[in-house]
Amino acid sequence: MSFSQLGLSAPLQQAIEKQGYSTPSPIQEQAIPAILSGQDVLAAAQTGTGKTAGFALPLLHRLEQGKPASPNNVRALILTPTRELAAQVEQSVREYSEFMPLKTAVVFGGVGINPQMKRLRGGVDVLIATPGRLLDLYQQNAVKFSDLEMLVLDEADRMLDMGFIHDIKRILKLLPAKRQTMLFSATFAGTVTELAESITRQPVKLST
Ligand code: AMP
Repeated sequence: MSFSQLGLSAPLQQAIEKQGYSTPSPIQEQAIPAILSGQDVLAAAQTGTGKTAGFALPLLHRLEQGKPASPNNVRALILTPTRELAAQVEQSVREYSEFMPLKTAVVFGGVGINPQMKRLRGGVDVLIATPGRLLDLYQQNAVKFSDLEMLVLDEADRMLDMGFIHDIKRILKLLPAKRQTMLFSATFAGTVTELAESITRQPVKLST
């Protein structure tokens, strides 16, 4: 299979070419069509499998079609367990969206909140966040979720291992029920499966 067979838009094909990716990885072959079709996805994928592009490319494709975010709103939210991963995912999203008119932001704890509040003011298409800082920003009215279309939980098992379950549940209560949800996890043991089943609707289950 080639990337051109996956039906991604021209600006994404251009970014893929710039990255030097020649063929989609197995998780990408499965995740990209499922996410493009609007379905919820549960994917078992380790780091290094190309999972980031597996969710980011179709997410960007879908965002390109809708309306821009209104002030302080977010259209796609990607939750990650650590600031290192958040920064890394944002870097990838920026590279994949280089030829698209989409706005991206990343927020995590341990750094000043004011620049993050300022960045969110005009609204963003993609927000990558760690759970605690996202809740802080919500409490300060810096972020709203009424325009939210898509949610990704990246490394969900690590988020649970790190004790983020309560923060995640609080965040989920703030999101519109009508949304597309994707959950990526290295493992699907007890609590991850429970969480996954409770936040998705008729998900496509993928593994490599
Ligand atoms: P990830 O599993 O998302 O952390 O990605 C691991 C690495 O694989 C990153 O450095 C990506 O840039 C790279 N990568 C992702 N998809 C592909 C692909 N289809 N072909 C070659 N490299 C890729």
